[in-house]
Amino acid sequence: MTKGLLIVISGPSGVGKGTVLKEFMNDPDLNLSYSVSMTTREKREGEVDGVNYYFVTKEEFQRAIDNGELLEWAEFVGNFYGTPLKAVNDLREQGKNVILEIEVEGCRQIREKCPDALTIYIIPPSMEELEKRIRGRKTEPEEVVQQRLAKAEKEMETIGEYKYVVCNDDVKLAADIIRVIIKRHMEK
Ligand code: 5GP
Repeated sequence: MTKGLLIVISGPSGVGKGTVLKEFMNDPDLNLSYSVSMTTREKREGEVDGVNYYFVTKEEFQRAIDNGELLEWAEFVGNFYGTPLKAVNDLREQGKNVILEIEVEGCRQIREKCPDALTIYIIPPSMEELEKRIRGRKTEPEEVVQQRLAKAEKEMETIGEYKYVVCNDDVKLAADIIRVIIKRHMEK
């Protein structure tokens, strides 16, 4: 069986990565599987452990690093996030195309380890629109909103490192573009 693709989706906090992903995640032609990350961040309302993230303590996260259980990991605005290695390998061995939704530092580590990874960066139509979306989410206090916006400005400088950049002005259109990109890579 052909090993599945490793697909990285990055983009600033609030750009709507999750919403775009939902549009194409269940497309049977794409044969996708979502890699659930581990994080030390607090659970947001509506998030489910084991579905959105594995919510762990700093000690548990450190243990996963020490035991070599993470494919990549990074700190993001005071919390740790990482990709469980075994799940990704198992799914790819089963022929699934695995989607990682991770930030830029993690993507750099992926590029080092898997140069073939398909990397896509989602940008907002403007920084004003991004700010509006983060605030509209109403999940973080002002201080964190400011930190996430500052982080977004920095992250956007790295988009040249990605194979593709897609603008999320219209969710359906962004999802369709990503669909086409993935299909093209499946045919290679
Ligand atoms: P949030 O707290 O908004 O869910 O995520 C914050 C940032 O961490 C987002 O940019 C998200 O893509 C990124 N992220 C989520 N999971 C991982 C992971 O496993 N590794 C890395 N490096 N970043 C992640």
